[in-house]
Amino acid sequence: MSDSESNAGGTAQKHYDVIIIGSGPAGYTAGVYTSRAKLGTLIVSGTLPGGQLMTTSEVENYPGFPNGIFGPELMMNMRQQAERFGAVVVDDEVIKVNFKKRPFTITTHSETYTSEAVIACTGASPRKLGIPAEQQFSGRGVSYCATCDGPFFKGEDIVVVGGGDTAIEEATFLTKFGKSVKIVHRRDSLRASKILQEKAFENPKIEFVWNNVVSDIKGDKKIATVLVKDTKSGKEKTIQAGGLFVAIGHEPNTEIFQGQLELDDKGYVVLKNHTKTSVEGVFAAGDVHDHRYRQAVTAAGFGCMAAIDVERWLSERKHNSKSSKK
Ligand code: FAD
Ligand code: NAP
Repeated sequence: MSDSESNAGGTAQKHYDVIIIGSGPAGYTAGVYTSRAKLGTLIVSGTLPGGQLMTTSEVENYPGFPNGIFGPELMMNMRQQAERFGAVVVDDEVIKVNFKKRPFTITTHSETYTSEAVIACTGASPRKLGIPAEQQFSGRGVSYCATCDGPFFKGEDIVVVGGGDTAIEEATFLTKFGKSVKIVHRRDSLRASKILQEKAFENPKIEFVWNNVVSDIKGDKKIATVLVKDTKSGKEKTIQAGGLFVAIGHEPNTEIFQGQLELDDKGYVVLKNHTKTSVEGVFAAGDVHDHRYRQAVTAAGFGCMAAIDVERWLSERKHNSKSSKK
């Protein structure tokens, strides 16, 4: 902690140079860099300490692990690495922020903190189908990331849900591994760009199941079949499936930033200059602003960039305040 605890208005406030909101690859990497740069760093982990990779098994595409690494193990390593350099991690959730004046105020369920700078790393959550079996088979055949999990489905019949760019791109990618790929879409036309559509229509391994939604998933240890329901007739049918990829969009975790930071029409944080947001002193990294790449390594990379931007911004401010005192 950079400053001692203060007592403002009876509330115990703890002041840090930088508070990082979120503990996925972006948050922990930012924490490694800021704490290593000797900035007093607090990481508020949120309700999913370690972020999205805590919900997966093997991660095969994070560099440095030639044999892959389990998501939770990778994230525990990142946490330990940030703590090793002095970052404080609290397992709490931010419920309110005030970026209107500096120092910024960050309120969690149990504490109110202040800081000179903030890095928003709250990530995004894949939109869910909302059927009870989805959770039961998550990680046992149900996946939200083809780039991440595709290679685990070699030779399987695969079902992809969605009609946007992600669904079509992922379905095309999955044909490299799967025996067959069926795209289940709730309408009879795609939202995806024409060029992606054409590729999918030409691909002999892809078949479309129009005007259908997934109504149930069956299996034992892992998924075996998917039940789909016709949106017009209400008729149900069973499709063989060793894997079900849900690609119906993502929701950025930005509720706490509404009215505080500029967000785009889908709710993602808008970056102004490198990792700077619309508020000076508030930076953002990872899936909370990036709906294009959405990978652990890119989130970690953005976390590093935001930390370096914070470091430079804080030292410029110190430098400027010293020169103005002369
Ligand atoms: P996240 O990992 O989403 O972390 C966000 C963090 O913010 C969480 O810790 C959460 O608790 C916290 N948070 C949210 N709201 C608040 C709040 N109000 N207060 C405090 N904290 C808050 N990518 C790969 O590169 N390879 C893979 O193999 C791979 N597999 C995946 C498997 C699955 C099942 C999923 C869902 C994703 C996978 N990804 C993979 C994608 C990768 O996990 C994400 O791109 C990456 O985790 C994004 O990192 P992030 O730090 O931006 O956000
Ligand atoms: P998206 O464009 O919002 O598409 C989501 C799809 O899922 C839509 O087809 C939607 O159906 C369907 N859907 C939504 N909720 C559903 C539900 N509950 N049940 C069943 N289906 C549901 O999301 P996205 O495909 O992830 O794309 C997000 C953004 O990233 C877009 O701007 C996209 O252009 C961009 N992107 C670009 C590329 C690229 O350029 N290569 C690749 C990936 C993503 P309806 O069509 O009926 O609404």
